[in-house]
This record gives sequence, structure tokens and C-alpha cells, in this order.
Amino acid sequence: MTEAKPERGVKKLVRNLYIFLVKRPNFVMVAVYLFLWLASCVTAYFLFFRPWKAPLFQGDRIYLVEQPPHIRSFGPETIPTVNDLSPPRYAAWNRPLCTMGYAASLALFLILVCSDPGYTDRLSKDEQRLLSQFPADNQLYHDRECSTCKRTKPARSKHCKYCNTCVLRFDHHCVWLNNDIGLFNHGWFLLFVALHMAGLIYLSVAQVRIFASIMAPVLSDWANPVLLLNVGIYLTVHMIPFGIFLMFHSSFAITMTLFTVLHVYLICADVTTNEMGKRNAIKLDLKGGHRAYLLWDKSAAVSQVARLAGTQSSPLWDLLPEQYAEPEHGELAPKYFDITAEEAKRAFLFKPYTLGPAKNFARVVRSTRLRFDVRRAVRRLVAVQHVPFDGGR
Ligand SMILES: [Zn+2]
Ligand SMILES: [Zn+2]
Repeated sequence: MTEAKPERGVKKLVRNLYIFLVKRPNFVMVAVYLFLWLASCVTAYFLFFRPWKAPLFQGDRIYLVEQPPHIRSFGPETIPTVNDLSPPRYAAWNRPLCTMGYAASLALFLILVCSDPGYTDRLSKDEQRLLSQFPADNQLYHDRECSTCKRTKPARSKHCKYCNTCVLRFDHHCVWLNNDIGLFNHGWFLLFVALHMAGLIYLSVAQVRIFASIMAPVLSDWANPVLLLNVGIYLTVHMIPFGIFLMFHSSFAITMTLFTVLHVYLICADVTTNEMGKRNAIKLDLKGGHRAYLLWDKSAAVSQVARLAGTQSSPLWDLLPEQYAEPEHGELAPKYFDITAEEAKRAFLFKPYTLGPAKNFARVVRSTRLRFDVRRAVRRLVAVQHVPFDGGR
């Protein structure tokens, strides 16, 4: 056994920063989003809205790069030609599309920051009917009240310690939005990530096209050392910000694509991020050798096995030491319950509440509504200390 050394220096700083940014609700990630949004707006402004001309490259040819993206090439032996690499229709759409895209992404962001994801303490009498949509499956969810907020805890909900209430069909607490994603705003969230995916792909493609148009003369006349030198100097001086924004847009485009695909999959399968985590933990355990299962809940596994075996509970199982609640239970369960090993394995995999992909998707769209809880949103943004913190594990 080695004693854990106290963390120092950079490691401690990184860890504290991680805890501050990810484990506590505050304004920082919201501000980071707004900053990135603004930076992207500025790039789009310089690319599409403001006329620009890159300096001339001088060799035995002269090139002039202009916005809207095209190149004029002058040579002593040739009449100036215009090499327009951007189809006019594409260029004409840049401005209105950018304006609408940036406005819509900011509006969706603000909606999601202030939205009510389905806090159970704000449901009207009428909305209490919604709770009947969530019957306990007695596998992952049982009829019970929340141990923290003491209200009925519908199946698929989870108590969010940041928002200090249970959230209907809880998906996850998003640090960027500083808010939960749940029954009422999962549809808005999907729209948000899909719009960002589309916008970022569009910007990345537009930037690659402009970059290609600038590189075209180099590629067509690459053996010309004067041209190469000049283009090299030009790219170094002028294109570094361009390159940074291209990397920024394209890396976020990939991230948002993955995120959109994940959420379309989750919605179609009718599994929440929260449930996916639980299910993966169980699956890992069934493969054996992993302790992930302990992150879930030993008692849930006990009642699942008990239910399958047709008994209420087993005092013997409850007496087992913690480590036996690991997935060898696939093998252990038959010893304590009158079931086969296969049945025991199945007991650890809950069935999602699925109706089929299209119906699942429609159900999420139908459940989406525009509801705000501005007071809670403001409290999360300003009151950093109100959340009890467990030390980051
Ligand atoms: Zn929350
Ligand atoms: Zn609760």
C-alpha cells in the first residue's frame, strides 16, 4: 500500500480547475460559450461580411486574394484573369445563413440556460398527470420518494444536487448550459446541438474553400521559389489566426457531430445519458473484473435478482460482503436464488422504456415545452458555494 501523496503545483491547479468548472455550477462555462460564440462571429464577419484583400504575392506572377473568395492572377505575359473558386450562389448565401445561424444559436443557448428541464417541485396539479407516463419498472426504478427532497420520485427521474430538486426523465447536468437536460428541454437540446453541428460544418467547409483558393497558385506553380517564399511569409503572417479559427471550428464540428449522433441514438432508443451510464456499468460488470458496478447500486441488483427468482429479498445476499456484489453475481446468484446463471445475468440488464425508434423520437418531441425557471438559473450562475461538494469522485 502506498500513501497518497498530497498533490502539488500544476497537478493540484488542474484538479481544482476541473472541480470548479465541471463539478460545481457557476457562470464560467456559460461565459466560455459566450466568448467562443463571439469569437466565431468575429471570424465570420471578417470572412464573409467585410471586404478584404490579401497582400500581393510578388514573383514573376502577382496574385491578389479577395473577399468574396477569388483570386486574380497577373503575369507579365498574361492578361489578368479571375479565378472564382466559390460558386456565386454559395457565396451569396453566406451572409443571411451566418446571421440566422448565430442569432438562433444564441437564442437556443439562452433558452436552455433558463429553461425548466422538468423540476418535480414546479409541476402544477394538471402536470402531475405526467407522472403516470413513468411507471416503475422494478428493475432500475422502484416506487419511492426522493431521500433528499422528499417528493415522489417518478421512474427515470434523478435528484440533481446543483438544482436541488428531482428532474423528470433526467438526462444529464450540462456544464456548458449550467442546467439539466430533462423531459421538457431534451428536444430543445437536440435542436441546439444539431444547429451547432450544421453551422460548424458549414463554417469549416467555407474556410477550407477559402484556404484552398489561396493555396491554388502555390499548387499550380509550386516550383517557383520566389512565389513559395512569398506565400510562405504571407501564410505565416496572415493565416495563423485563420488557421487557428479553422482548427477551432473543425474540431468543434467533429465534437458536435458526435454529440448529435449520440443524442439522436439515445432519443430513438429511449435511453437517457444517466441510464446509459448505469447500463454500461452493469454490462462492464457482467464481463467481469470491473468494479464499475459498485458505482451503481448493490440494492438495485439484489431486488432485480429477487424479483426474477420470485422472492422478495434474500437475507443471505444482503450479508455478502460488498465485493461479492460485483458481477460474479452472475455466478453467485444461483447459489442464493432458485434461478439459472442465464437468468441471473439477464437480471442485471434492465429493459429500456422503448416503443420503437420513431415513436420514441415523437414522444420526446411531444414532451418538449418552453418553460423557464429564471430564478434558479440566476442562482446557479451566481451562488457557487451552495452546493455540497463530495470531493470530486
Ligand atoms: Zn441540475
Ligand atoms: Zn429529489
